[in-house]
Amino acid sequence: MRRAVVIGGGPAGLKAAHTLRKGGLDVTLLESGPILGGLASSFDVQGVRIEKYYHFICRGDDDLVDTLRELGLSGKLHWKSSRMAYFVDGQLYPFLTPLELMRFAPLTLAERVRAGVAVKRAQRMREEDLAPQKAIPWLKKMFGNHAYHVIWEPLMRFKFAEHAEEISAAWIWARMVRLSRSRVSAWREELGYIEGGSQTVLDALGQDLETRGARVLKNASVERIVMEGGRATGVRVGGETLPADVVISTVTIPRFRALAADLPADYLDRLARIPTIGIFCLFLRLRERVTPFFWVNTHDPRVPFAGMIEYTNLNPVPELGGDRILYVPQYLSPDDPRYAQDDEAVFRAYTDALALLHPAFDRSWVKFHALFRDRFAQPICLTDYRETTPRHATPAPNIFVTDSCQLHPHDRSISGSFGLGRVAATEALASLGPA
Ligand SMILES: Cc1cc2nc3c(=O)[nH]c(=O)nc-3n(C[C@H](O)[C@H](O)[C@H](O)COP(=O)(O)OP(=O)(O)OC[C@H]3O[C@@H](n4cnc5c(N)ncnc54)[C@H](O)[C@@H]3O)c2cc1C
Repeated sequence: MRRAVVIGGGPAGLKAAHTLRKGGLDVTLLESGPILGGLASSFDVQGVRIEKYYHFICRGDDDLVDTLRELGLSGKLHWKSSRMAYFVDGQLYPFLTPLELMRFAPLTLAERVRAGVAVKRAQRMREEDLAPQKAIPWLKKMFGNHAYHVIWEPLMRFKFAEHAEEISAAWIWARMVRLSRSRVSAWREELGYIEGGSQTVLDALGQDLETRGARVLKNASVERIVMEGGRATGVRVGGETLPADVVISTVTIPRFRALAADLPADYLDRLARIPTIGIFCLFLRLRERVTPFFWVNTHDPRVPFAGMIEYTNLNPVPELGGDRILYVPQYLSPDDPRYAQDDEAVFRAYTDALALLHPAFDRSWVKFHALFRDRFAQPICLTDYRETTPRHATPAPNIFVTDSCQLHPHDRSISGSFGLGRVAATEALASLGPA
């Protein structure tokens, strides 16, 4: 039987391995960490498994919905009304419905009307026209300078830090389109969550893989892809070579470049042109709710973060017995000195700011806290992404690659990564031809 090795046990790797196994290959999946799931993995919070980063689902996340159906888990997917708000200069403003937008005092009445029209106009625009434009001038043109600073600047700073100036307008457009699909009416947005969190589907996929006879190895960090005559012959793991007829890498591109150093230098140089940003994210288990909103963007000089996600306002996680889960993420380059800040310093600064959002908040509300960091959390969508995004196929005929940048201009998502894994595996199977 022909042998396939999949590197990485996140959503893309699990889906790729599943597709290859169903295609009749002998499959080994190698995951460097102790658990499956990658950026979507969970950890133990005082006896309850919770995702280390927040995850919500949008209408149109079809690969995720299909995977749940295939695994008999459709009943675990729930859709719920979700609310968002802006915290501007000490005041919390709901920001979802036309009425809330009209009451949004930080903007003048004319700016509010213009913002509503701009969102509608943007949804009718075309990706190819927006791709080469930079997001910030485009947003200023659509919304006006002042509205840009209040509504969009926090998001740009939040997601892209020092890369904000370089982002393609198509990325913002795609985000508006994705969220607009979740609008069930002008008054209501519905987001989805999976009972038990993303781990429910990721673990089930891992188990199904093993039931189907694939090997799923954890704590197995691939050191490099072994190549001979321009083809992969195997992968080096734990000092030994595991032979392979085809290899799919699903690790982030900066890591893939190190693993596949024998690929042509000009190809590896091109991959290096796609920047990736890191993240640190404060995770809090609280005994009280801070706001009634799922998502709050902040625009207040006293608040050191640009947004926070009160996850239990979407997924109530009944196992928590009424406690609340709050994430405060900060995307930034791992070279930024703030990336290496002491965990307790972040905890103190961020929880001090929560008292501005809810005057009764104090640290006795915190039952548990943790800080997670990832050097590669988000590929950056530059204005040349249509030319620079790599395909799954590489210069080696039996090495295939997935990375969230292949979803651009769309943001990364679990569903998107399932799609990438599925398509890369389908291409890999086709490249092998009939058995
Ligand atoms: C803060 C945050 C919020 C998010 N919110 C959402 C959301 O709301 N909705 C949504 O759908 N998505 C969300 N996502 C995105 C989602 O988590 C990712 O898109 C998805 O996990 C990417 O899957 P992947 O398999 O492509 O990569 P990864 O999850 O990065 O998986 C790659 C795997 O490869 C492993 N690996 C690395 N090096 C090696 C090696 N040398 N050998 C073997 N294994 C290796 C890693 O340990 C990892 O498990 C969010 C992500 C973040 C960071």
